[in-house]
Amino acid sequence: MECPYCQSEKILKRGFDSLQDGTLVQRYQCKDCNRRFNERTGTPMARLRTASSVVSYAIKARTEGMGVRSAGRTFGKSHTTIMRWEKRLADQAQNWSPPRTSSL
Ligand SMILES: [Zn+2]
Repeated sequence: MECPYCQSEKILKRGFDSLQDGTLVQRYQCKDCNRRFNERTGTPMARLRTASSVVSYAIKARTEGMGVRSAGRTFGKSHTTIMRWEKRLADQAQNWSPPRTSSL
């Protein structure tokens, strides 16, 4: 675990954030830059308040052809929430590139 902002490994545990489904996410504070972050900072799920497993199941269902309203009903969210997740993940995907492998 290192600071996502300055890559320092001098980090302190600062309690937990709880998500809507009761999942606890460890929160940290960096001793070098004093910024706070949690386990999800720097991932596409960073600012979501829903368990990442629910989000990924919903997105998977959508990529398998489920309609946005059906997905909302299935996962107990509004269809606007589902669309917001999709947009967020699409934005992230544009900034993401696969790691290079040098051992080919
Ligand atoms: Zn830092």
